[in-house]
Amino acid sequence: MSQTNIIVGSGFSGSTMARLIAEKLDEKVVVVDKKDHIAGNSYDYRDENGIMIHKYGSHIFHTNNEKVWSFLKQFTDFNTYMHEVVGILDGIEAQIPFNFTTLYQVFPETLAKRLEEKLLKKFEYNKKVPILEFQKQDDEDLKFLAEYVYEKIFLNYTTKQWGVSPKDVDGAVTARVPVYLSKDNRYFQDKYQGIPLEGYAKLVEKMLDHPNIEVVLNKDFAEFKKENSDLVKNARIFYTGSIDEFFDYKLGKLPYRSVNFKFETHNRDFYQTHACINYPNNYDFTRIHEYKHYLNDKSEKTVIAKEYSEFFELGKNERYYPIASEENAKLYQKYLDEAKNLKDVYFFGRLGDYKYYNMDLAVARAIELFEEVFNA
Ligand code: UDP
Repeated sequence: MSQTNIIVGSGFSGSTMARLIAEKLDEKVVVVDKKDHIAGNSYDYRDENGIMIHKYGSHIFHTNNEKVWSFLKQFTDFNTYMHEVVGILDGIEAQIPFNFTTLYQVFPETLAKRLEEKLLKKFEYNKKVPILEFQKQDDEDLKFLAEYVYEKIFLNYTTKQWGVSPKDVDGAVTARVPVYLSKDNRYFQDKYQGIPLEGYAKLVEKMLDHPNIEVVLNKDFAEFKKENSDLVKNARIFYTGSIDEFFDYKLGKLPYRSVNFKFETHNRDFYQTHACINYPNNYDFTRIHEYKHYLNDKSEKTVIAKEYSEFFELGKNERYYPIASEENAKLYQKYLDEAKNLKDVYFFGRLGDYKYYNMDLAVARAIELFEEVFNA
């Protein structure tokens, strides 16, 4: 066992790769992370009130991928939490995604009924329609409804979240939250959903708990490279950081959106009805998270976080969301072309691939890359 593998980043992507290499190939793996904890942005911890806090915002696991589910189940059990989101629309707490429940929550019954009938005539029941497509209506009532949904749910939220209107963000982003011709109030319809019973950090800790895996925290990869040049020279590198950082930004910086969480502790049992309430049209934050809902934590207090979106700035905040655009894709591709000249260096993960992955897709991509590189 002489080959060393260096994995940069201990989030879902890096930790999945680390585990697969350590276990299936019986090779040595060093996981290097610049943060002072493992698990990347899925990191969580129990605070002094016994409430599991998701430090970087709510993480709800959901997948239809059997392979991903059985891989993760080796390290944790999940509860049966199914996420529901409500938004404050004209002061009314209403289901998001907009669905038949929302219709009756926000409109008088006679109007809701008329709209429901027209919707059922035009669309198949249970269909998910992206808002930008839903706006293409010729019936006056449905035009009114489409305008309502666009204005009240998407326009201001997306402007706060991305700094531009829904028409100027990649369609796949707003399509994550479609108009849903259904009475299913859940945010996700995946077969498997839930929160790891002991949290995400514990899940990742168990993934990394293998005799072949060494974890180095508080260490920037550039610094690690300087201090361990011989090791790095001969190792395979699996890099889940941002590709521009790997190349010291020589072709320019890839932009990201970031978020800033303002935490508050309240002396009451619950602050809000749901784990996540969206505020598309009020305030400067996009949503409020209340953490005790996720694992049904018992405490006389409750902890919430108000989520404010901002641009990512190096040294100031964290990278959260790649910004899909033609220009950014071109810059990313230029870095990938540079990477082709390197031997044994692989980029993956939300930052390494510059793709808006959910946790399950991050795991799936790491498994695929492992199989591809090692013909496994
Ligand atoms: N979105 C919106 N209003 C909402 C919820 C979502 O306009 O109430 C749009 C917004 O552009 C957001 C995107 O849908 O960035 C995806 O939302 P999702 O909840 O999937 O984002 P995440 O939880 O990954 O931040």
